[in-house]
Amino acid sequence: MAIVEVCNVDMNYHNMKGVTEAIKDINFTVDEGEFISIIGPSGCGKSTLLNIISGLIEPSKGVIKYKGSIVKDNLDKVGYMFQKDYLFPWLTVKDNVLIGLKIKKLLTKENIAFTESLIERYGLKKFENHKPQELSGGMRQRAALIRTMALKPEILLLDEHTAALDPKTSIKIMDITDKIIDEKKITTLMVTHNIKQ
Ligand code: ADP
Repeated sequence: MAIVEVCNVDMNYHNMKGVTEAIKDINFTVDEGEFISIIGPSGCGKSTLLNIISGLIEPSKGVIKYKGSIVKDNLDKVGYMFQKDYLFPWLTVKDNVLIGLKIKKLLTKENIAFTESLIERYGLKKFENHKPQELSGGMRQRAALIRTMALKPEILLLDEHTAALDPKTSIKIMDITDKIIDEKKITTLMVTHNIKQ
């Protein structure tokens, strides 16, 4: 069954210099549990597409549906990982990874235990009381992934989330994430310009 439907989507950016046609007439569906990679060179519109699928920006034309209803009614089902970690520098790693659950008033025993298990799996237990600026880029990105996964998204959007990291660290992080995606059967769309990923 299709969990995501991308229907006739165009995106044009308007500015003082004119119009940039970023994507045109995009149509595809994603089945529940599928892992889809969107591959293409820089500037071909990958991030634009993911931003539209996430509901962050509205397309110029077309519509995104989750399980048949519009994306705006389903924002809580989506987890979005960016290239940047966007961690709060004044919070510890633990408080950063719990922030989504706190905002959504979902700090249940079960959710906290699940988040703690993610901290273990991503190897950040020893650093949970550190501030983000005391961590390496790879560790910060792992913390951002835990924050996203803690909310148990049904659909995970990954936008070149390991692009800024060295290849070894990138593969390590992808491996851990892939295992969690498999176990939890999370439908995933990953954007990359790197065919090897
Ligand atoms: P990719 O993720 O594949 O690198 P993007 O989706 O970031 O591609 O960009 C696609 C095109 O849209 C590029 O030409 C880019 O310059 C343009 N673009 C992206 N975001 C904006 C924006 N906010 N305003 C104007 N043009 C944009």
